Amino acid sequence: MSLIIREIKVKKALSKSGLPEYDYALNPYLGCQHGCVYCYARDFTSGEPATRWGEVVYVKVNLIEVLSNEVKGVRRGIVGLSTITDPYQPIESKYKLSRGALGILCDSGFHVSVQTKSALVLRDIDLLRQCGGMVDVGLTITTMRDVFKLIEPNTQAPLVRAMTIRKLARAGVKTWIFLGPIIPGINDSRLDYEPIIRLAKETNSQLIIDRFRPRKTAVGLIKSKLGVNPIPTTDWWRRTISELSQLCSSYGVNCITEEDEWRSRRRDGSILDYLHD
Ligand code: SF4
Repeated sequence: MSLIIREIKVKKALSKSGLPEYDYALNPYLGCQHGCVYCYARDFTSGEPATRWGEVVYVKVNLIEVLSNEVKGVRRGIVGLSTITDPYQPIESKYKLSRGALGILCDSGFHVSVQTKSALVLRDIDLLRQCGGMVDVGLTITTMRDVFKLIEPNTQAPLVRAMTIRKLARAGVKTWIFLGPIIPGINDSRLDYEPIIRLAKETNSQLIIDRFRPRKTAVGLIKSKLGVNPIPTTDWWRRTISELSQLCSSYGVNCITEEDEWRSRRRDGSILDYLHD
């Protein structure tokens, strides 16, 4: 399936983030080539990139110009790059919008929190190092097994993502790993997540864990494409989080759930807080 790219112009670069851990969201693209089956972002996107998720991507070609002006009059804060698209999906190698935005934001005193599934982020390692304590980079890894191909068909393999986080950590960039969504019957076994916990230990990365959040489109796709009912039950999640918690403790890894993060707005909580609710 070939990708359709449409170049658009925007009036604003930063938007108020719906995620409590960020003050702003910056999404250089609408739509995402990675086309993950479970993706929630399509529900927060409108028009063609949403209805043809993974096939059509809009590129905000004047983003850098708009952002350069906008930062002059905006209160400093934490910017999520990105929240409804992958900022380092393959077309970023051509447009370099994430690179441009990262440079402007760091230079202007914003903290940038990058989240991606792509090794392309390593292209910007020079900038990430320059940003120093004003940047952190998260790699999403849902499993280390080949089952990733079923749920993330157009992404780089988990081993490539693991190599990416190792290189970032070695370069002194603050890293974290997003282990989510964990989907019942797909990536909820110890074989899926123990190697990710070991990787978090090796790279001194915080591990943020989240379960699948049932949304109509994603549930329908997973049921029809994979023949699995992905709706989490409370018992399933308690069992899963309990095993994860034990593994995190035994490896000495700082693990938190997405709920912890929402509550604390800081990434220094503990997964155990969730179990003690
Ligand atoms: S990489 Fe993220 S934004 Fe892109 S399709 Fe996958 S889950 Fe959605």
